[in-house]
Amino acid sequence: MIETVNGNLCVDGVKVSDITEEFGTPCYIMSEKTIRENCRKYKNAIEKYYGGNGLPLFASKAFSCMEIYRIVASEGLGTDVVSGGELYTALKAGFDPKKIYFHGNAKTEKELIMAIESGVGHIVVDNIEELMLLDRLAGEKGKIANISFRIKPGVEAHTHDFVKTGQIDSKFGVALENGEAFEIIKTASELKNVKVVGAHCHIGSQIFDEDPFMLAAKVMLEFMAKVKNELSVEIKELNLGGGFGIRYVEGQNPKDYDEYMRKVSETVKSESAALGLEVPYIVVEPGRSIVGAAGITAYKVMSVKTIENIRTYVAIDGGMTDNPRYALYKSEYEACIANKADKPKDFKATVAGRCCESGDLIGENMMIQKPEAGDILVVFATGAYNYSMASNYNRVPRLPVVMITDGKPRIIVKRETYEDIIRNDI
Ligand SMILES: *Cc1c(COP(=O)(O)O)cnc(C)c1O
Repeated sequence: MIETVNGNLCVDGVKVSDITEEFGTPCYIMSEKTIRENCRKYKNAIEKYYGGNGLPLFASKAFSCMEIYRIVASEGLGTDVVSGGELYTALKAGFDPKKIYFHGNAKTEKELIMAIESGVGHIVVDNIEELMLLDRLAGEKGKIANISFRIKPGVEAHTHDFVKTGQIDSKFGVALENGEAFEIIKTASELKNVKVVGAHCHIGSQIFDEDPFMLAAKVMLEFMAKVKNELSVEIKELNLGGGFGIRYVEGQNPKDYDEYMRKVSETVKSESAALGLEVPYIVVEPGRSIVGAAGITAYKVMSVKTIENIRTYVAIDGGMTDNPRYALYKSEYEACIANKADKPKDFKATVAGRCCESGDLIGENMMIQKPEAGDILVVFATGAYNYSMASNYNRVPRLPVVMITDGKPRIIVKRETYEDIIRNDI
């Protein structure tokens, strides 16, 4: 929990300024308690609404490091990975390969071999070329690969254009409306080294409304019925993807995830009955909603530069290298001065990073307490798509991740050093 105690911002009871004193700035700080609570919400909902006939997967592109795989595994979740690098990290952390789902629209031959050899439970096939390649590779290894298909159900989610993936104009998956999805399953059903297990869709990210999820579930079940009737292929598993919204700024009020899951389960059950299908095994893939609100980033204020009648730039010792989301898609965040957390937020700031790019901003028109050089500036809800999107632009070392566990901070990812940065230079 993130709260102010005696004027100081705290994460699970630990003062942010104590953490920055011990581990330096900038750094990411995450609450293990919050991550575990979020995992349990999805796990419990599957128990409650599907009698346990399903599995939540942590979409690890939101935040991938060894310790996060250990935490979500210990909560009984599976995980989805989208690259050889994420797969490698999950396996090294001891994640049960049977509970790993491998996504991606351009998996390489090497990555597919790695997935087959390590016994990954489920490969989510994106396109026909990948299907044929996978069938050949599995055959060469004498294995049968469990697969599902990434399907574009043609459902649009109300979200930012750049993260909209459910509609036909998307680089991901095969479309329903032009028969592409039907054809690929027909082809797969005739191959020897793959087994069609599931159908998958992911209609976007940062979605607050449950209607698009319900509509997507309905469309997918209708498709599964068509496949059963016309191809005699029974798809046993329905994966509804992730995308559940979180609160970044005031006015964003996500529903309780339990409520989403209940509503979607009603649609799944009633539609299955109407179509003469058994209720499928249900998979969901929350990423942001597991880790997003569990994390903050703590920076040091370096300078406060007021340009009369224009704006005030508050420069920090981090920026787009640790949080590229404003530069990428103008994502909004809230911030505060951790050591003045009980003071009014009456100062309008453009929070600027340290990179040699004018677009290196964390946000504009952000209301914070009056800042001075040396203050600790915290940006909220940075647990997802920050560390995992970090770069070494300007040869800035990546930040450490400090996890608060049982009221004590511990490092789960070390700060990069200059030595790390030149490691592969010749
Ligand atoms: C990104 C993604 C997710 C997770 O999305 P969130 O918005 O973080 O919940 C899940 N599944 C797939 C296939 C994705 O691409």
